[in-house]
Amino acid sequence: MYPFTYVRATALADVTQRLKADPDAKLLAGGMTLLPTMKMRLAAPSQLIDIGRLTDLTGVSAEGDGLTIGAATRHAEVAAHATVQSVIPALAALAQGIGDPQVRARGTLGGSVANSDPAADYPAAVLGLDATVITDRRSIPAGEFFKGLFTTALATDEVIRAIRFTRPVRAAYAKFAQPASGYAMAGVMVAELATGIRVAVTGAGPCVFRWTDAEAALTRHFSSESIDALSLNPSGLNADLHADAAYRAQLVKVMAAQAVARLTGTAR
Ligand SMILES: Cc1cc2nc3c(=O)[nH]c(=O)nc-3n(C[C@H](O)[C@H](O)[C@H](O)COP(=O)(O)OP(=O)(O)OC[C@H]3O[C@@H](n4cnc5c(N)ncnc54)[C@H](O)[C@@H]3O)c2cc1C
Repeated sequence: MYPFTYVRATALADVTQRLKADPDAKLLAGGMTLLPTMKMRLAAPSQLIDIGRLTDLTGVSAEGDGLTIGAATRHAEVAAHATVQSVIPALAALAQGIGDPQVRARGTLGGSVANSDPAADYPAAVLGLDATVITDRRSIPAGEFFKGLFTTALATDEVIRAIRFTRPVRAAYAKFAQPASGYAMAGVMVAELATGIRVAVTGAGPCVFRWTDAEAALTRHFSSESIDALSLNPSGLNADLHADAAYRAQLVKVMAAQAVARLTGTAR
């Protein structure tokens, strides 16, 4: 690790001031990605601004027909929260499937979304449920937030405060997890929203994306068989030691069909 200073933030205003004053400062949420990256000397922030205990950024609140979840809310809290379980059970289940108990006890919603890891689970929920990312200066619709591999619409000094989710008519998430880490080799959120069907895919491409052919097919007929009849072009999908692009394309299909089967009550 390179040397750095550490400060525990006490207010959001303090965080934004520090980020503006020091372009090499970084927010520290649960440290689940940032600290290993620093240990490997892939990141060398001058200052870590710990937002993990900022009460402004934590907790779940039910608002109208949806939920707002603070950016520093840990995965374990989202998974166990009665309101999340009742309003968007698919989101609670997704959080429960992240990593292992240690990762869920430290990792945060905001850290996961800000990082835009191609294999992270939350981006599939944010895009699939058409959520809104609320920062210290604006609201960003999910469709405009994820820009590419580890890249988002956030400015370098921008802080995610919370994410607002609207209650779907129904939604389910299925993932094929990499067995050592739990990260998605392919994860698919299928959601029926008031505005239509969404199918968001993580783990397969450089960042989360919508599978629009599947959305159209499910709009015509909402069944796993509609997914079976499709094929996803593997060109541009991820290939690594765990799976090549063609295998991932097939996994996406299988996970999408599984998610639909859960919603239609048919076995898969
Ligand atoms: C062993 C292991 C297994 C894992 N398995 C999975 C898995 O199965 N599925 C999955 O989805 N994830 C998995 N993760 C990732 C984990 O869930 C964390 O969400 C992720 O690592 C981000 O960690 P964090 O929240 O602690 O953020 P940090 O590591 O503290 O921060 C990550 C980045 O986000 C920035 N950041 C943090 N908060 C904010 C904010 N509010 N606004 C703007 N920027 C911010 C930080 O500056 C940093 O650049 C795994 C991680 C580990 C170590």
